[in-house]
Amino acid sequence: MSEHKFGFRTRALHAGGTPDATTGARAVPIYQSTSFIFDDAKDAANLFALQKYGNIYSRIGNPTVAALEERIASLEGGIGAVATASGMAAEYITFSALAGSGDHIVASSQLYGGTVTLLDVTLRRMGIETTFVESDDPEEFRKAIRENTKAVYTEVISNPGGEVADLEGLSEVAHTAGVPLVVDATLATPYLLRPIEHGADIVIHSVTKFLGGHGTTLGGVVVEAGTFDWGNGRFPTMTEPVKSYGGIRWWDNFGEYGFLTKLRSEQLRDIGPSLNPQAAFTLLQGVETLPQRMDAHIANARIVAEWLASDPRISYVTWAGLDDHPHFERAQKYFPLGPGSVFAFGARPSGAFDSDEARLVAARATGEKLIESLQLASHLANVGDARTLVLHPATTTHQQLSPEQLDAAGVPADLIRISVGLEDPEDIIWDLDQALEAATGESR
Ligand SMILES: *Cc1c(COP(=O)(O)O)cnc(C)c1O
Repeated sequence: MSEHKFGFRTRALHAGGTPDATTGARAVPIYQSTSFIFDDAKDAANLFALQKYGNIYSRIGNPTVAALEERIASLEGGIGAVATASGMAAEYITFSALAGSGDHIVASSQLYGGTVTLLDVTLRRMGIETTFVESDDPEEFRKAIRENTKAVYTEVISNPGGEVADLEGLSEVAHTAGVPLVVDATLATPYLLRPIEHGADIVIHSVTKFLGGHGTTLGGVVVEAGTFDWGNGRFPTMTEPVKSYGGIRWWDNFGEYGFLTKLRSEQLRDIGPSLNPQAAFTLLQGVETLPQRMDAHIANARIVAEWLASDPRISYVTWAGLDDHPHFERAQKYFPLGPGSVFAFGARPSGAFDSDEARLVAARATGEKLIESLQLASHLANVGDARTLVLHPATTTHQQLSPEQLDAAGVPADLIRISVGLEDPEDIIWDLDQALEAATGESR
């Protein structure tokens, strides 16, 4: 049995979750305890000095949270994971473990809004500089790397444009420079893509989204492949003695587990954005049905994207599974099951316009009317719920921008982002159809 390799669906249900030894509980129990009893004084001393592995205090580790960490690490094919209170917390502890004042990060410019402000404002204020690369060409990332660069960062599939990252190209660029490739794989989930198989070293998720899957609970996770050489000279904080742990060295003492141990024993200890056991339990329920839900999300996304693409009222659809998407070929390679269920589309404003300005104003109004007319899809700022979600950036997240600025930001005034849910696809289409009719005055 130990030789047998369990499949993805089996691991989604079982990894990290052995029945409770004392009670026989089959589901992972919620260990609602801040702290854990020491055997004796020596045991306590060993745990604190990291001479022994075990539970101390739930800011650093908790058995329910550990089950979630082990399960996601198993699904990603990593050696371990550290869970956090949110996806942003997972990003923050990763950047703060990798880089300090005077250091530099190379990142794609196509990132989640919160990630852009974390890198561009908060980390910059702390002395960590980021170069945002606008092209998806790995050579442009190579040119941006400096002596003090500590990571190459990208999302595996961008939102809302559906751009698929060239992971193998970026991995080669990062590894030639001696830095890890760090990816945000939130929209992919390990069911659709395992970035470690394509050269990523660190994989981050907002577990809040498809992994949790029901729009109820925030959480994040950092998974490590365990193959990066932290002793290459670029990462002194990994190889120099750690004062607060009696001079141990993360890389020398913990080897391939060094970075994850640093995340847990230093970042969670000192900063404290830990996942709580109730949240870990709720998120575990979602992970158990991840494969079945993602199959259904993808099937619905395909039906909705194809329906939209064939509608004369629609000007564009950004789902990379459509053969006219610029990243269709790359999506076939990295996402053989399909490139997720979050994408965007635009509705053509009806009528004739005597200027671009007039057309842009009309496009914004059409997007606004469309979103207001939807009856089933929920208008909110989230993705990866079981329900269909929509957002019109021009009147919400990007409302302060002029139509021209919106175009420059790659967010056309008419752009509607959709996260296709698990409803009957005929109902999602019925809803889009009636809202398009209300917004454009035209029927299909
Ligand atoms: C939502 C999201 C995040 C942030 O995650 P939270 O759990 O909301 O903190 C990061 N990256 C991507 C791609 C996301 O969709």
